[in-house]
Amino acid sequence: MKEVILIKNGEMALKGLNRRSFEDAMAKTLRRRLKPLGKMEIVRAQSAMAVVPGDDAFDFEEAVRRVGRVFGISAFSRACVATKDLPDICRTAAAYLAPQLQAAATFKVECKRADKTFPLTSPELARELGGYLLSRFHHLTVDVHNPDLLVVAEVRDFGVYLHGPQLPGAGGLPGGTAGKAAILISGGIDSPVAAWRMARRGVGLTAVHFASPPYTGPRAEQKVRTLLQTVAGYAGPIPLWIVPFTEIQQSIGEACPEELFTIIMRRFMMRCAEQIALKAGCKALITGESVGQVASQTLSALVCTNAVCSLPVFRPLIGSDKEEIVSLARKIGTFETSVLPYEDCCTVFTPRHPKTRPTLEQVEKAEAALEVETLTARAVAGAVLERMD
Ligand code: ATP
Ligand code: MG
Repeated sequence: MKEVILIKNGEMALKGLNRRSFEDAMAKTLRRRLKPLGKMEIVRAQSAMAVVPGDDAFDFEEAVRRVGRVFGISAFSRACVATKDLPDICRTAAAYLAPQLQAAATFKVECKRADKTFPLTSPELARELGGYLLSRFHHLTVDVHNPDLLVVAEVRDFGVYLHGPQLPGAGGLPGGTAGKAAILISGGIDSPVAAWRMARRGVGLTAVHFASPPYTGPRAEQKVRTLLQTVAGYAGPIPLWIVPFTEIQQSIGEACPEELFTIIMRRFMMRCAEQIALKAGCKALITGESVGQVASQTLSALVCTNAVCSLPVFRPLIGSDKEEIVSLARKIGTFETSVLPYEDCCTVFTPRHPKTRPTLEQVEKAEAALEVETLTARAVAGAVLERMD
């Protein structure tokens, strides 16, 4: 039996003239994700797509998992293909859906007919197929209102797709269709979730990570790569800039009051990230901040951090509780990596008593002891680009 994956586009159907480019973006991400799994074809018809394996070597189970992670897909189903011959449709449905039909007590058949030359109308085909399934599975009864199992037959030009209920897709909009923004990514729990949230709205990501060797090691950087690869599975490839941050941190440590260390460091991160963002054609910055989570995320601190940026800063987790963020991190598959215990630059130089209500005036005064522009420019110039896919 030939199995395929039928894909339902989500919100894209609403996007009028843009629909084509949305579908192209989704097909591109899909192709990139599925190509390593073997020979296959992505067949597009009207507003639907189907993944058709080229041969038996294609890793179908992994393909199903990957399809469930591509943004823009609202729902999908595994389906079997029959010829447009009624006995074949009936036999194929009974064989393909046997486990589900056996497990159900009630069912309903629904038919869709894209090929209007097919000799039976949709209700006629539903009646024929339903009758056949009843004759083969004696324990079943029909329930048109609340069936345990919905059996779907979709008549297309070349054949008939047969499938059970749909599986939920990752939703959102396809990668990159909403313009670009730069995510400040640490190896923590929050920023990968923030990245995922914005990417789900179609925002194409460029990632910026600050590393402070020798205080932070290669394993901390590897963590960031792994996190971005997970997000890229949903959104498509993500360029990653790794910015050397040691000199900035040491300079702050030498010249500024300890209680302002973190806030000044965060301002440097924003300055560097903004320069990289502008170079990369990004229209905004994204962080994983959430009000009140730590001293550098009080409203007063956020005001000081924001003051150095001219691009808009998006903080998709700003009103989320840690528990909500953790549960989303688990769902999207970043949590296990985020909790690996490698030192991040933020944990290396942590003040004992950070100021929770810094004023812009205090912070700017403390920063006057530093060569802000030179330090920023040097860090940005030393940034190294990689591509996460
Ligand atoms: P996260 O879990 O995302 O690390 P956090 O709760 O630990 O967040 P902070 O360490 O104060 O909070 O960082 C706030 C935000 O600053 C992060 O969400 C991230 O966007 C950015 N950030 C922190 N550290 C780095 C880093 N090393 N490189 C790039 N961005 C960073
Ligand atoms: Mg952190």
